[in-house]
Amino acid sequence: MAKTPVITLDLNFQGRKQAIASYLIPHSSGVVLVESGPGSTLSALQAVLAEGGYSPQDVTHVLLTHIHLDHAGAAGWLARQGAEVFVHPVGAPHMLNPEKLLASAARIYGDKMDSLWGEFLSVPEDRLKIPEDAREIIIGNMRFLPVNTPGHAEHHYAYLFEDICFTGDIGGVRIPGFPYMRVPMPPPELHLERWRDSVKRLRREKFNRIAPTHFGIFDDPEWQLNELGKDLDDISRWLEEVMPADPSIQELREKFTDWMEEQALAAGLSEKVLKVYEVANPVGMSADGLLRYWKKSHLTG
Ligand SMILES: [Zn+2]
Repeated sequence: MAKTPVITLDLNFQGRKQAIASYLIPHSSGVVLVESGPGSTLSALQAVLAEGGYSPQDVTHVLLTHIHLDHAGAAGWLARQGAEVFVHPVGAPHMLNPEKLLASAARIYGDKMDSLWGEFLSVPEDRLKIPEDAREIIIGNMRFLPVNTPGHAEHHYAYLFEDICFTGDIGGVRIPGFPYMRVPMPPPELHLERWRDSVKRLRREKFNRIAPTHFGIFDDPEWQLNELGKDLDDISRWLEEVMPADPSIQELREKFTDWMEEQALAAGLSEKVLKVYEVANPVGMSADGLLRYWKKSHLTG
C-alpha cells in the first residue's frame, strides 16, 4: 500500500528554523496534526497551513505527545475551530484547566512566558479525546497507535503511524544534518529509569522512520534510539560523579553547560546550530530537571 504523505511544518519558533515541528497528515475530509506547537507560533502555523491550501477549520484532529507548552500550546485554539484533541489521560485534566500547568511554567519562564509561549487556551470538554495506551485511534482509513512512554514527562505518548514513530520528546532532540542528539530533561517529572524503559518499549515496536518534534523525520530510528540509550547512561554516570559534592543549582547548571558544550564541540556543531539546540532545549532547564530528579530518587531510596 502507498504511504500516506506526512508533511513537516516548521513553526519557526523564536525565528529559528528546525526548532519546533508540527506534522501534517492530509486525509479525505481535512488534515490531522501531530503536535500543535505553542500559542506563540499560531500565526506561523496558519501561514504554513495556508501554503498547503488549508484553513484552521480543516484541522480535524490534533494528536499531542504531551502537554508541554512547545507541543500543546495552540491545541485549545484549534479545538475551538473544531478539531478533536487527543492527549494522554494524565495530561488531559490540564488541557481542560490549564491554570496549574501555566503557573508551574511561569515559575520557570517568568516574564518571558508570553513572548515565548503566547496564549494557551483550554480545550472544551466535548473536543477532548483520551486514548488508551496501545488502543488504536482510527481516523478515516488511518490508524494511529498511542504508546505510553513516560520519562520526559509522566503523561507522554509516542504515536505509531504506518512506518513512522512520532516521538515527541521521548526520542530526544535532534536537528537534521548532525550526528548529535540531546536529551530534554525539564522538571518536574523527569525520570531516567522510566525513560530507559520507554526506549526499550519503542525498540520492540516496528517502524522505519522516527519523527522527534525537535526536529524532522529521520530514516535511521535504530541509530537514534541507540544514541539516546548511550546519552541516558552517560547522564546517569555524570550525575553519580557530580552530585555527591552537593552542588548548588547554579554550580550544577554551570557544570552541565560545560559538559554539554564539550560534547557539542566534539561533534563539530557550529554556533548557529548550537543556538537552535538551546532554543529547542535550554541546558539550564535540563540542569533543573536533573537536580529535582536526583533529589526525589535519593530521598525515596
Ligand atoms: Zn516536553
